[in-house]
Parts: sequence; C-alpha cells; structure tokens
Amino acid sequence: MGKLTENFGTLVFNDSAMHDRLPKDIYKSLKQTISEGKDLDITLANAVANAMKVWAIEKGATHYTHWFQPLTGITAEKHDSFLSPQKDGSIIEEFSGKRLIKGEPDASSFPSGGLRATFEARGYTAWDPTSYAFIKDKTLCIPTAFCSYGGEMLDKKTPLLRSLEALSAQATRVLRLLGQEDVTRVTASVGAEQEYFLVDRDTWAKREDLRLCGRTLFGAPAPKGQELEDHYFGVIKPRVKAYMEELNDELWKLGIYANTEHNEVAPSQHELAPVFTLTNNAADQNQLTMEIMKKVAERHGLVCLLHEKPFKGVNGSGKHNNWSIETNTGVNLFKPGDDPYNNTVFLLFLAAVITAVDDYQDLLRITVASASNDHRLGGDEAPPAIVSVYLGDELTGILECVETGKKYTGAKKAHMQTGVHVLPDFKKDTTDRNRTSPFAFTGNKFEFRMPGSAQSISDANMVLNTALAEVLSGFADRLEGKKEVVAAARRIVRDAYRDHKRIIFNGNNYSPEWVAEAEKRGLYNLKTSADAIPLLVQEKNMALFSKIGIFSEAELRSRCEIMQENYNKVISIEALTMIDMANKLLIPALNRHASAICAQLSSIASCGYSPVALKKAAAKAVELGDSLYRATEALSEKHSALKKMSDPEQASFFCRDELLPAMECLRGIADEAEKVTPRELWPFPTYSELLFNV
Ligand code: ADP
Ligand code: MG
Repeated sequence: MGKLTENFGTLVFNDSAMHDRLPKDIYKSLKQTISEGKDLDITLANAVANAMKVWAIEKGATHYTHWFQPLTGITAEKHDSFLSPQKDGSIIEEFSGKRLIKGEPDASSFPSGGLRATFEARGYTAWDPTSYAFIKDKTLCIPTAFCSYGGEMLDKKTPLLRSLEALSAQATRVLRLLGQEDVTRVTASVGAEQEYFLVDRDTWAKREDLRLCGRTLFGAPAPKGQELEDHYFGVIKPRVKAYMEELNDELWKLGIYANTEHNEVAPSQHELAPVFTLTNNAADQNQLTMEIMKKVAERHGLVCLLHEKPFKGVNGSGKHNNWSIETNTGVNLFKPGDDPYNNTVFLLFLAAVITAVDDYQDLLRITVASASNDHRLGGDEAPPAIVSVYLGDELTGILECVETGKKYTGAKKAHMQTGVHVLPDFKKDTTDRNRTSPFAFTGNKFEFRMPGSAQSISDANMVLNTALAEVLSGFADRLEGKKEVVAAARRIVRDAYRDHKRIIFNGNNYSPEWVAEAEKRGLYNLKTSADAIPLLVQEKNMALFSKIGIFSEAELRSRCEIMQENYNKVISIEALTMIDMANKLLIPALNRHASAICAQLSSIASCGYSPVALKKAAAKAVELGDSLYRATEALSEKHSALKKMSDPEQASFFCRDELLPAMECLRGIADEAEKVTPRELWPFPTYSELLFNV
C-alpha cells in the first residue's frame, strides 16, 4: 500500500471494514438492505452494532452519537458513552442494535416551523445504513434521519432519500419501457466543489461582524482587489499549503476523496473538490468537510470563512453541485456518447432535465435561498437569480433538428490542434464551458452553480431528483403500451424541447440583456429570498411533493416558515451587530478624529495661521460623525419595528424593503468615513489587512 492510500478511510466503518468484521451471512444481508432497500431486522442490527463497537473502541472511540441534519442546515450530535453500569456494580462496554437503529434526542430545540404546536418534544433519529458510520473526535458517528414523535420529518436527509428512491423508480420505468430489461435501479451522484476563504485568526478576532455574522458588515475596498486576476490558480502560499495538506489528511482518513485544490478568483479564496459519489454520501461528506475545514484552520492560526459573501466587492463563495444519474448496469444517462443525435435514451433524459428545470425553476431558486446567498447571486461573480440551462451549441443544434425534423449534419468531435509538435493533439469536448450559467451541462453531468458555500446540498438535490422523477413519470405514461417506442420517445423529446426551450440560454448570464430577455421569456427572476420562499407552498409545488411522496402539506408549510424565520433572524443579528459596532467603535472613533483635528487647528491657530485643509477635514469628520449617528438611530428604529412583527412572511418583506436598505445606508457612511480617518484611529482591521495578510 502506498503512503497516500494507507490512511484512506481508516476512520470509516466502510465496506471493507464490514466485510472483515461481520459474519458472512450478516454482511450479505446488510449489503442487501443497503442496495435493495430491504427492511432492517433487529438480529442484523445487533450483529452490526457489536462489530461497530469493537472496531470503534479499537480506534480509540469512547462515545457514540447519532449524527443528523436538522433544518438548521448544519449537523447535530449528542454523545453517549459506550460504558454501561451493571447491577453488580461493574461496568461493561455496550452498544446494542436498538441503540444503533434508534435514538431519542429532544426535538423541541430544533427548528420545526409550524409543526411545533402539534407535536411532542420527543424526536427520533433512525440509522441510515446507506451512509457509513465514522469516527470523529473519539466518537463513533452514526448517520441518521431525524423525525418528530408524530412522524413529521425534521431533517434534510429523509426527503433526500425519498427523492432518490422516487427518481430510481421512475427512471427505471422509462428505461424498461425502452427495452432495457436489465435495469433495476438508477442512482444519482454528486461532486460538490466547495469554495472558501482563509483569513488570519488574530485579525479576524478583532472584527465583531466576522465573529458574529461570518461576513464584514463594514469595510471600504482595499486599494487592490482581484482586478489583476493574479490569484486564480496562482501559486499556493506555504501557510495555505500546510493547511490544505492537513485538511486532505483528515478528509482522506474519513474516506472523503478530496481531490482538487486551487486558489480561487478573490484574494484569500480557495476551492476544494472531492471525487463525486452517491448523493446521500456526498451530502453527508460535504457537511463533514465544512466542519473539518473550520477545525483544521484553527490549528493553523487561520479561520475558514464559509459565508457566501464575506467581503463586499470581491467574489463570493459557492458550492457547485455536479450531478449525474447512472443505471445499475453502469450507464451514465447524461453521457451523450459519440453520436448524441441518435442516442435516444440520452436525448430523452436530457429533455426530462430541461422540462424539470423549467417547470420547477422557482423550487431550484428556493433551495439556494438564504439571507447570505442573496448577496452573492446576481453579483458580478455568480449567476443571477434567474434559473436557466446551458447546453452549448451542439446539443442545442441537435434538439432543434429533433423539433423541426431537419436532418442533423453536425460535426463529430473535432480535434484540437495547438500547432506545436511536442504538445499532444486531443479531442475537443462537445460542449465548451460557460462559467456564467446557473445550470450548465458539462459533458456528462449538470453543474448547478447557485448553491451557496455554507448551504447543505441536500435541498438542491432533493428538488432535482423529485422534479426529474415527476417528469420521467409523465414520460413513462406516454411510452406505456407504445409499439414503436423509439419513435414515441423522439416525439416526447420534440414536444419537451418545443415547450420548454425558453429555459435554455447559452449566452452570458451576467449581462443586463439577459435579464431583459428572461423577462420576455416569462422566466422567474426572484431577486431575494424574501421573494422566493413564499413560492415553496404554491399549488403546483405542493402537488409535486405530495404526488412523489416527499412532503405533506404541513411539512412543506413548516419548511417555508423555518426558511423565513431564518432569513429574518440572520438579518436581525446583522443589524444589531452593525448598531453595536457603530455605537461603540465607529462613532467614538470619528469623534476622536474630529477632536484631534480641532486640537491641531487651535494649536496652529495660536501661531496666527488658518489652515484651510484642516478646517475642511474637521467639518468633514463632524459631518460624517453626525451622519453615522443618524443612520444608526434610523436602523435601530427599524429593528425595533421588526421585533414587533409576528408574521414571518411580513417580517421577511420588511427585512428586504426596510432593514437591508437601512444597513446599506449605514455602511455607506462608515466606509466613506474609513477612507478619511487615520489608520491608528480606525477601530478594526481593514480589508487590505484581512485579505492580504495570510
Ligand atoms: P471542473 O472543471 O468544473 O472543476 P471537474 O471535472 O474537475 O470539473 O469536476 C468537478 C466536480 O465534478 C468534481 O467533484 C468531480 O468529481 C465531479 N464530477 C465529475 N464527473 C461527474 C459525474 N459524472 N457526476 C457527478 N459529478 C461528477
Ligand atoms: Mg466546476
């Protein structure tokens, strides 16, 4: 075993650990449970629990926890020790099947939206055997789903698992109707590229906004930003390199294939990409990755910022969700092959994705809605809040021909010639890259680029799978009983393209022309989360989720409310932080600045001079101080008004229309003041100190 591979997955109770440690028949039935969704029985659970316990204790674990993903968007855990006191006073190490499959955390302290009124505090966690248990901080972590006493889902994993089953069922139906009898299962895979910032910990600690809100609420631009384009793919600095090395080590031990790492566009911004894996595992692993990224940063005197927009004026961070679906026979259904025009299966699935994204644009937008991601979407570096699909010219050309019945005479893959003999020639990809598209076809997968860096990828994938399942179920209905299935399938592709091509856009998504064009096409442009979230419960979306069996109406309404409450709380905390910083730091700093100038003025005046520049500076400092004071008062009043509002939706509109503009106004004045205040009087680190000192 090589040096790189010997530690890989050592902290995961993975397939090989199970194979080595479980009796043969138990191993076999567990595998069946996992791959065929067979029910779990308690004898099986007992055997697995025992093997897990022995394995974990050997690796130094003392505790175990059910690890779950409540609607906070992060993970939760409650540790219990393996020790169990006996009647005779002795202590044994114990971990039973019952404790493996079920836990009972108190559900009342987790967000439940409107469901809270109708259920008891008791909640249950249930073992998800399709995601491997792992060891973190001497604790055996068991991935679990989380629901209330009344059975309502309170987490992000359960709907994701349901959507994967629905997608598998409908995709299999379609493929079997097309004659692929050997297909029994379809899986969706995801590779989530994760962007992040690293800043110096001591510098970070001096900024209340970064500590409490994860982003800077004040800060004039540094003289240098990203305009020289010298950071993207640039040489990685030694301190960052050391961080990345340790991060990789930790992730590899947890069986996470962290693969690519590079500097991103903004100063101090980086990216980590894992190798893609089954969606459920990818979602768990991404949560774990975010946690480890933060932890490792601390050991290097750094802080890892996962906020979508920590700094105004430089690029924010996203999480590109690369998504593909594959049959149990090993076929990637999004792979066009050498002759996409005649690849009817591919075209049918492509048409299904186009239809799904068009029909459920609003839902996709909602899965990435958060107060923090709003600062990024529609900025210069991220797709706008308008959902569209990039296909590239070749695939669009093919679909045009299918629609119009014209013969397709498109090019086979062209060769790329560099014109230099020693450099290899290679086949060009059938699609170029379009970095501006929110949903881009990239060769054999779709890349959904709207998710924010801090968000769980579960919601986005749950909606993709659910919407695709719904469309495929309609396609299957149309194929049912047809003799000429291929011709029927091509008619479906034709109709789908004709009816949904408005969602396809191959141009520059950042341009103002696209915003106008999208409006003409009738596409949604949901600029803020406050605009987007209420659509979650519109009729067609309710119908989708209840038909596919993902959410009940009550569950969906509760999720809507939780999202709104979260949006309001985040903005409320930011407003309070601004008020605090303005009152305690900024206004006093400006007063000190003004009085220092006045002292200088009077000492200079005593010599008979009357310096115009100083007088102007004094007037400016006093004026800025006054403006800051007024803007802070105005923001405080708005914040008090917000506190009186009880309806989350009304409150979210108030945040959008009143609070955020008042915050922007206060910031504008503060940033102006920063430019004219001497550095030694400015009360916290500046952008150039934050962005250029790692
Ligand atoms: P990029 O140029 O966008 O960085 P990469 O080929 O490096 O593209 O892949 C980016 C991410 O997409 C990685 O996480 C990778 O594992 C994932 N990926 C590659 N192929 C697939 C696929 N078929 N399905 C899902 N994800 C994939
Ligand atoms: Mg990418």
